Amino acid sequence: MSHTIESILTENRVFPPSEAFKAQATINDAKYQELKDKAETDYVGFWSDLAREKLSWSKDFSVGLDDSKAPFYKWFTDGELNASYNCIDRHLEEKEYKNAIIFEADDGSTETYTYKDLHDEVCRLANALVAKGVEKGDRVIIYMPMIPQAVFAMQACARIGAIHSIVFGGFSAEALKDRIEDAGAKMVITADGGFRGGKTVALKNAVDEALEKGGRSVESVIVYERTKQAVKMKAGRDITWNDAIAGMSNYHHAVMVNAEHPLFLLYTSGSTGKPKGIQHSTGGYLLNAHLTNEWVFDLKNDDVFWCTADVGWITGHTYVAYGPLSMGMTIVMFEGVPTYPDAGRFWKVCQDHAVTVFYTAPTAIRALMKFGSDLPKQYDLSKLRLLGTVGEPINPEAWIWYHDVIGRGECPIVDTWWQTETGAHMIAPLPGVTALKPGSCTKPLPGIDAHIVDEEGTELTHGEGGYLVIRKPWPSMVRTIWNDDARFVETYFAMFKNKYYVVGDSAHLDTDGNFWIMGRIDDVLNVSGHRLGTMEIESALVSHPAVVEAAVVGRPHDVKGEAIAAFVVLSNNLNEAAEKAAMVQELREWVAKEIGPIAKPDEIRFGTNLPKTRSGKIMRRLLRGIAKGEDLCGDTSTLEDPTILAQFMEKH
Ligand code: ATP
Ligand code: MG
Repeated sequence: MSHTIESILTENRVFPPSEAFKAQATINDAKYQELKDKAETDYVGFWSDLAREKLSWSKDFSVGLDDSKAPFYKWFTDGELNASYNCIDRHLEEKEYKNAIIFEADDGSTETYTYKDLHDEVCRLANALVAKGVEKGDRVIIYMPMIPQAVFAMQACARIGAIHSIVFGGFSAEALKDRIEDAGAKMVITADGGFRGGKTVALKNAVDEALEKGGRSVESVIVYERTKQAVKMKAGRDITWNDAIAGMSNYHHAVMVNAEHPLFLLYTSGSTGKPKGIQHSTGGYLLNAHLTNEWVFDLKNDDVFWCTADVGWITGHTYVAYGPLSMGMTIVMFEGVPTYPDAGRFWKVCQDHAVTVFYTAPTAIRALMKFGSDLPKQYDLSKLRLLGTVGEPINPEAWIWYHDVIGRGECPIVDTWWQTETGAHMIAPLPGVTALKPGSCTKPLPGIDAHIVDEEGTELTHGEGGYLVIRKPWPSMVRTIWNDDARFVETYFAMFKNKYYVVGDSAHLDTDGNFWIMGRIDDVLNVSGHRLGTMEIESALVSHPAVVEAAVVGRPHDVKGEAIAAFVVLSNNLNEAAEKAAMVQELREWVAKEIGPIAKPDEIRFGTNLPKTRSGKIMRRLLRGIAKGEDLCGDTSTLEDPTILAQFMEKH
């Protein structure tokens, strides 16, 4: 019996890099070959040389990789450095007056911070943290809106060697309390509230509630006054940001830490279950953060880089707060939402700040596609030279729209596959080298040893889908799950007895050596003995003109083993039962024609949106429950809009 996963979707469009892009790219064919060769012949030397070349160390290291306690790998073990020094201080001599952050608020007002401004803000806050008794190794929760102060807070923690853990501002008091307790945090840095889509949202009251229910380790709370709404301040515990930094010096000598000192903890998005407290290192993390901004985003001194991710996600850590700053780049930060005041907002921000490199999630692209191509055409997007996506597989149809309408048919698209645990891009195109295929994240980066294996751990060649795994350790890999070494080993290494890091996604290779992510391993369907990933069936549905988004899951079936249930969002909602029934028929036939009768959904349900995590990922785990007719219990704390579930309870 075969244990592989079948690939049924064929995508043949290929987009090689243009000569013009190639000519200016940092990584060209020759450089790529050189990096790959070096990684193959001298793996540890490859990473060690790059670590010395790209980062500033206060103490050089003598050990590149320590694998004596595998799978608890350590990199650059006896080296010392400071992440904030690397992101700020070392640029000051040449870039004092260069913009580090261009901030656009929800209401459209803007602020800019030069590298000198960033330095001063971060130092004042670092001094305030020290004054409040925060020491190296203490955990600090950051619960903030998407404003520059969130980055100041991250950098200030890094500067004093405190370990930050950001909790996304949209999370409830309960979710916040759980994370505070798991991390054993000493301080919370928050804001009175924030602005989103023209509305004022509260934040501080959730901190109060979380700390009433628990979180006893927290000694102090710093509150940035963003909205100036009335909030309760608990005497002896709470202090405003302005009071905390009053009189503080704009100089702080960065505390050098060991390369393995934890830089931050970040809880995963919770698509597949209880979030895990992912622990990242300082040296290894920063190296891959820096390198991938240089390699994959091809960032250069005059670029303006906008990554739309909130700092509450790993993407906001590596591609907002640490990577681009470590390279001395100018970043855009945006407080608002893509649809306010209208669905042209992203394109207006790109135009107004002359954004050159733009990075967002497939969920945002699909949502904006729904509003058509005329809206983006009203804006001058001519400065864009490179586009990126992350978070989920991108359906080929969405890729083509992004490429043609936003990228003028000219900008390469880097579809970046990685995870909270990997710290930085792992499988992604090098835009001056790689021929792109819509829906494929293409090839592993130099030094990343990715493979696809079956359940026995046998390597699969092209065509067969299986478990995506990484063989050799890499510098920015997760060090452990906070407070839970056993869960770390069990989750990522136990399956193949420590031989591989097990990603949790399924994938297959094509004849050109490109990787295609097929979905989560937990979501693989087994239909009449055929094992199918979710991605291809979903992409077939999305390629129908009436469909905006789709998610498929399996439900037990007496004969077939599993039946396919599809959850579909249409661009125009249907109200009549007859119309819905006709659409169900049409979509079933469509899938049969696109990828074959085996993938034909047995049932299709419609709703106005899919249940997603707050980072925009589809939660198939919940849809599986609905398809089975189960009562939905379990962890829905990371769900964006719980009311969506009710719509899908109805069958057609
Ligand atoms: P949890 O681990 O708690 O379930 P999560 O996996 O959603 O949460 P993240 O670490 O933010 O949390 O997401 C990483 C996952 O996102 C990957 O394992 C993969 O499934 C998906 N992903 C990210 N980027 C891509 C991409 N470019 N193509 C396909 N899938 C992607
Ligand atoms: Mg995950």
